[in-house]
This record gives sequence, structure tokens and C-alpha cells, in this order.
Amino acid sequence: MTNTLDNPNLTIVVQKYGGTSVGSVERISAVAQRVVKAVKAGNSLVVVVSAMGKTTDGLVKLAGEISANPSRREMDMLLSTGEQVSMALLAMALQELGQPAISLTGAQVGIVTEAQHTRARILDINTDRILRHLDEGKVVVVAGFQGISNSDELEITTLGRGGSDTSAVALAAALRANRCEIYTDVPGILTADPRLVPDAQLMDEITCDEMLELASLGAKVLHPRAVEIARNYGMPLVVLSSWTDDPGTRVVSPPPQPRSLAGLEIARPVDAVEFDPDQAKVAMLRVPDRPGVAAKLFGEIARQDVDVDLIIQSIHEGNTNDIAFTVSKDILNRAEAVSEAIAPALRSQQSPHPEEAEVIVERGIAKIAIAGAGMIGRPGVAAMMFKTLADAGVNIEMISTSEIKVSCVIDEKDGNIAIASLCQTFDIDSSPYRLPSEGKKQDVKDEREEEKILSVRGVALDLKQARLAIRQVPDSAGMAAKIFGLLAEQNISVDTIIQSQRCRIIDGIPTRDIACTIAQADAEIARVTLEKAAGVLGFGEVLVDPDIAKVSIVGAGMVGQPGVAAKMFAALSEEQINIQMIATSEIKISCVVAAEKGINALQVIHKAFGLAGSKKIKVPA
Ligand code: ADP
Ligand code: ASP
Ligand code: MG
Repeated sequence: MTNTLDNPNLTIVVQKYGGTSVGSVERISAVAQRVVKAVKAGNSLVVVVSAMGKTTDGLVKLAGEISANPSRREMDMLLSTGEQVSMALLAMALQELGQPAISLTGAQVGIVTEAQHTRARILDINTDRILRHLDEGKVVVVAGFQGISNSDELEITTLGRGGSDTSAVALAAALRANRCEIYTDVPGILTADPRLVPDAQLMDEITCDEMLELASLGAKVLHPRAVEIARNYGMPLVVLSSWTDDPGTRVVSPPPQPRSLAGLEIARPVDAVEFDPDQAKVAMLRVPDRPGVAAKLFGEIARQDVDVDLIIQSIHEGNTNDIAFTVSKDILNRAEAVSEAIAPALRSQQSPHPEEAEVIVERGIAKIAIAGAGMIGRPGVAAMMFKTLADAGVNIEMISTSEIKVSCVIDEKDGNIAIASLCQTFDIDSSPYRLPSEGKKQDVKDEREEEKILSVRGVALDLKQARLAIRQVPDSAGMAAKIFGLLAEQNISVDTIIQSQRCRIIDGIPTRDIACTIAQADAEIARVTLEKAAGVLGFGEVLVDPDIAKVSIVGAGMVGQPGVAAKMFAALSEEQINIQMIATSEIKISCVVAAEKGINALQVIHKAFGLAGSKKIKVPA
């Protein structure tokens, strides 16, 4: 028997059909016809299916009616059944069309995962059985979203909601397929969720890095872990409609570094340590907490053509906020002058007893970052970075996180030790470090305004986050490591970590507040975990606010484009939407606003960046 992998003329295509696409018997038959067409075109087909329609939601609801806190193992037993219905029905539909087909569960395929119920990561896929069936001329239909644990008990596991995308791309990588096609209920990846922004436009192409950010900031059209696998293994990935023959959106990856398939989703979370000594910080303390302040500040900064790198705005204390940003050292003087010029205007509007707004500048800082697509959903990686820096005696002044990068602002003189210890921890050996993206210093002065607007590719909204604030955290090396280490032990991922700029002396000890966003589902556990540790670690109150929305813009072209942040803040300000937190990375800016303003915020930002098209996208029910 010839092995499929050894036959260069054979193309293996993995197709995945989501819940709506297999939502009824008619739709399953339509999928079968599409699959047969691809087989007739000369491809070997592996088809991954989701549960029909809203089946999984229905099962979650049933469990909730029996128990407020059902066992995670039993949830996996329950939820894994949804996909088994659709896989068998699709195999029957294919057979009905005269196409030999066989359906297989995750366990039968040999999708081996960690033993972590409800959020298992894939370790390994044994492709022998699939290849054998493909060689027999069969279409192999695989249940998405599920696997089997690597423990002796062979437990059924699931990969987390939306995980069928991840099953599909992981199978494609393991089979060294020619491409992976994700069929869904929208024409592809759009500039925003068309259910919330009806004039969102289709993108022909998006980079993996941009898609990783969008997916993890709320655009659930793709599971971020699926994008991560595509990026790590260079798997051609396309998202397209189940109802049309339109080409959809290509998700493009840079050429991958060679990578073993062993430990598929867990090997090497960090690809690089990046260091940028050319940073300086401007902090504005005690600016009024009302709509329009960030817009005014960054609007003026953009008018002076000052390109801002990281921006953070911390939780408010009383009726004021702190905003800090970094710029390259050569433009620090200009940035400082603008900030000083604006400060009095902000002061005069404070009431009733204004503390003075104040500008603080720091020259001797640097930015160090770890980068890699394997950090998603692995809170231990950021915690490990903070611990490594703490153990090396390096104090962290600012933290900015994104899905593929954690950046810390540190004292410039600590640069060498920080680089060395991070390279050691994350096993980065070849080149000691690399500088951040080369595009940074590009001259954009002659570019037309339209092109600047285009630097933002998409807008996302996440209504399932909560804000966690920890008051009066002693300002010493190691605190971030301890706090986020505790959360990581509970498997809680955090995003948008912000330390206040203001230092308050409590009982002779300098303290700062730390805030971050976390999934609402994790908020209670996070609060309890931290409250237990408050006495030992010496911090104050732990506050949770679930009534927030996180709205984000994403685009690789934002680098080196002054004015993008200002435009976003201005759009919010015009709607009188107050910004509670700001966090940026090179390719995204996120703002936390009140939950009830979330959809409005998404819509006005989408419009402000000129992303709206004339075609209205209809989403089938
Ligand atoms: P499937 O069941 O096919 O996996 P999902 O419901 O998981 O489908 O994902 C598709 C949905 O993602 C769309 O119906 C749309 O509402 C939503 N979505 C959110 N953001 C975007 C975006 N930027 N582009 C396209 N769809 C998006
Ligand atoms: N059926 C699962 C869910 O609804 C997995 C998926 O559809 O991707 O989350
Ligand atoms: Mg999905």
C-alpha cells in the first residue's frame, strides 16, 4: 500500500464545518455535496465537524439545570457528544451520495491531549488510521473539539469552546496537509463582527499575528489556538462561507521555523526575546477621569508628529487617572513639551479640589519583550517572565501584554541581565535577542491620510471580560511574578495588565495599584485566590468589576503611524464614552469602557477608521 504522505501527487485538504453549517439535515447534505466536489477535483478529504447548530450551548444549559458547578470531567463527557451526532450524519450523507466515508471520534483518530478537562491542549496526533482510510479512498469525518487524554485512564477531553477550528488546523499540521479550509456562516474574516456592525467588510487576506490579536480580543470567527498552530507550522489557512463559492479570507503566516510535531500545542511558547533600549517614558499623573482627555492628549501629540509606542492608562483613583506612554528617546523632548503644554488645561477643569496634574519624564528606560504564538491560554508564560526578571533583581515599571507578546519596561541599565536571564529561561539560544519589528522607524510623513487609516485592519469587542484591580501592591521586584504566578496556578489568563504610575507610600512602603482584565468566568476564583494571599504579600483590597467591555483595534500597519491612537480616543470622546483603561501593543490598542457602551464604541471606532463598506453582510440564523 502506498503511503499517502509519500505520494507527491496527492493533495490532502482538511475542511472544517462549524455549527451553523451543519445545523440541519439539509445543511449536512449540502456539506456532503461540497465535500464530494472537492474529492472529484482530486483531493483527499479530512472533514472536521462541529456540533449541530447551538447543540453545545443546549448541553451546557442542561448541565446548569442540574448543577451550579458541574464536574469538568462530566462536562467533557456531555459536550463531546454533540460532535458525534454531526460526524455520523455527515458520513451517512456522504455514503448516500456514493462517496465512501467513515466517521471517527477524537479518541479513534488518536488526538492525544493533556489531561486538563474542558481546556485540553493537543499534544500529539497519530495519523496512521486517517492515512489508511484516505488510501482506501474514503473521506474521513472527524469529531471536532475533542481528544483523549495522555493519562492511563484514556479520558475524553475537550479543547475549550470554539475548539473545532483548533482540531482542524492541528490535524492539517499533523497530516502535512496542503491546506486547511474553515467553512462558516460569514463570507470570511471581516473588519468587525457583522452581527454588531452590519457594514463590516470582508478582508482578502490577514496576517496570522493580526488574526491572533483579533481572535483573542473577541472576534470568535476563529479560535486563536487554531491560528497559533497555523502560524507555528506555516499551514495555509482560509476562512470561507459554507453557502457560496467565494474565495473567503486567507490567513497568512511567515515562513515557520522548523518544528517538531511532538507536543504540538505545548512545545516552545516563546520564539524570541526582543530588546529595545531606545525608549523613554512620559507619565501624566492625576488627569481628570472624564471622556475626551486621552483624545485631547494624544490628538495634540499626533499633531506634533510624535509616534507613541506603548500607552497605558490605569484604573482611576478618586476622580483622576494616570496615563503613561513611551516614545523613542530622540523625540522625548517634543513629547514632554506637548504634555507640559496640555497639563494646565487639564488642571483647570478639575473639581472640586484638584490635586495637581503632573508630568513625569524618564529617560533611562528600555523595553524587553518575549514573543511567540504559543503563549495563548498559558498564563504561566507571562508569570515565568516576571519571575525571571524578579530573580535577576530587575524591577518592572510598565507591563503590556498581547496574545503573542509580553513587554516590560525596565531600567535601561538592567538590559543585559534581563536579556541573558530571559534567553536562559525560555531556551532562546541562537541570536541573543532581536530588536522589535524593523518597520518601526519607517518614514510615513508623505503617506496620504487614507493609507494611515488603512493601517487598522479590524475592530473587536469582548463583552466577557471583567476588570480586576489590586490596590496598594508593594512596589518591589517580584510582586508581579507572585501575583500572576498565583493566578497562573489556577490556570487564569490575564490580559491588559497595568500598573499605576502613581506611587503611594503606605506605612513607609511605596505601593502601586495593579489592574488587569480576565475572563468573567474566572473573576470570582481570581478574587478569592488573591484575597487569600493579600496578608502575606502585603497588598490591599481586591476589586472585581464585571460590567466592562473591551474594544480593540488591530493592524500590523499601526507601527510608526502617529495618530492612530488619537483617532480611536477621539471617536470615543465624540460619543461621550469614558475610557477606563488603555493598553497597547505594537499591533493593537485596547480600551476598557462601561459594558453598556461596548457596542456603540465598536461601531463608532469602525466608522472612524473608514472600515465600513457599502455591502451589508447577512448572517444566516
Ligand atoms: P462556527 O460555528 O462556524 O465555528 P462561529 O460562530 O464560531 O462559527 O464564528 C462565526 C461568527 O463569528 C460569525 O457568525 C460572526 O458573528 C462572528 N464574528 C466575530 N467577529 C468576526 C469577524 N471579525 N469576522 C467575521 N465574523 C466574526
Ligand atoms: N461545539 C463546540 C462549541 O460550540 C466546538 C466548536 O463548535 O468549535 O464550542
Ligand atoms: Mg467557531
